[in-house]
Amino acid sequence: MADILYILKEKCPNCEKGDIFESKGNPFLFRMPKMHRRCHNCDYNFIREPGYFFGAMYVSYALTIAEMVAVLILGKFVIGLGNIYIFVIIMIMAVVSSTFNFRLSRTIWLYMFRKKKTPGHIEV
Ligand SMILES: [Zn+2]
Repeated sequence: MADILYILKEKCPNCEKGDIFESKGNPFLFRMPKMHRRCHNCDYNFIREPGYFFGAMYVSYALTIAEMVAVLILGKFVIGLGNIYIFVIIMIMAVVSSTFNFRLSRTIWLYMFRKKKTPGHIEV
C-alpha cells in the first residue's frame, strides 16, 4: 500500500527517498520529463539496459485508455454531453496528462521489476 504513495511521489524503488525524475516536463512547452540515470541517495540504476522502458509504453497505454473511458462515462452518462464535446475533452485531456502518464508509467514499470538491494550486494 505504501508503494502507491512512493509511486505517486516518483521516488526510487530501492530506497524510496531519491527522486526518479530531475524535471517533470511540460506538455504545453513540448518538454518531456528527464530521468536521473541513478538514484542520488542509494545509487540504484534506474536505466537497467537499453530499451528498458519500452514496456512502460504498455503501462502508459493502459493508463491513457482508463482515463479516456473514465471521461467518456463521466461526460456521457453523468453530465450528458454530446459526442463531439466528449471527443474534444478527451483529446485535450490526453495532451495535458501526457507528461504525467509518461512519468507514472515509467515509475510503475520500475516498481514492477525492482530489485531490492540487500546489504553486501554489489551491482554491476
Ligand atoms: Zn534510491
